[in-house]
Amino acid sequence: MRQDYISWDQYFMGISLMSAMRSKDPNTQVGACIVSAEHKIVGIGYNGFPRGVSDLDFPWQREGEFLETKYPYVVHAEQNAILNSTGSLNGCRIYVSLFPCHECAKNIIQSGIKEVIYASDKYAGTDSIRASKKMLDASKVVYRQMPAMQLRVEIGNEIPENDHAE
Ligand code: ZN
Repeated sequence: MRQDYISWDQYFMGISLMSAMRSKDPNTQVGACIVSAEHKIVGIGYNGFPRGVSDLDFPWQREGEFLETKYPYVVHAEQNAILNSTGSLNGCRIYVSLFPCHECAKNIIQSGIKEVIYASDKYAGTDSIRASKKMLDASKVVYRQMPAMQLRVEIGNEIPENDHAE
């Protein structure tokens, strides 16, 4: 048996980070992956505009008049993962590349998710994240950061040679 296989945490965080790469946001790409107690993926998402709200017609910028920024239009990765989910999220955990904002924390709590595993907490200390943590604490949703070491996963070394079209 192989010994260097990746952990469940690495697997699902990897999928979350991969999902983030689908985002059209030029500044912040976030991915989320919701997993059941049986290690089944039940929801997945990244930050983007709602269906039919075109990336070509709506703005991705962060500054200016409210209607000219992304803020009124964007659906966060966690929200998308919850909205795209295939079943009950009660007792599930969510892997996110960035600590959830206060709006997403409310969605996470109300959906029944019980654990948040995050990669980055770069907005720690902002009011949004402080409010988020206060609510998660009060609701007994636990959260933990994945060690940076575990985020580094080498891929590609087992791709069959024949499948390469050079
Ligand atoms: Zn959010």
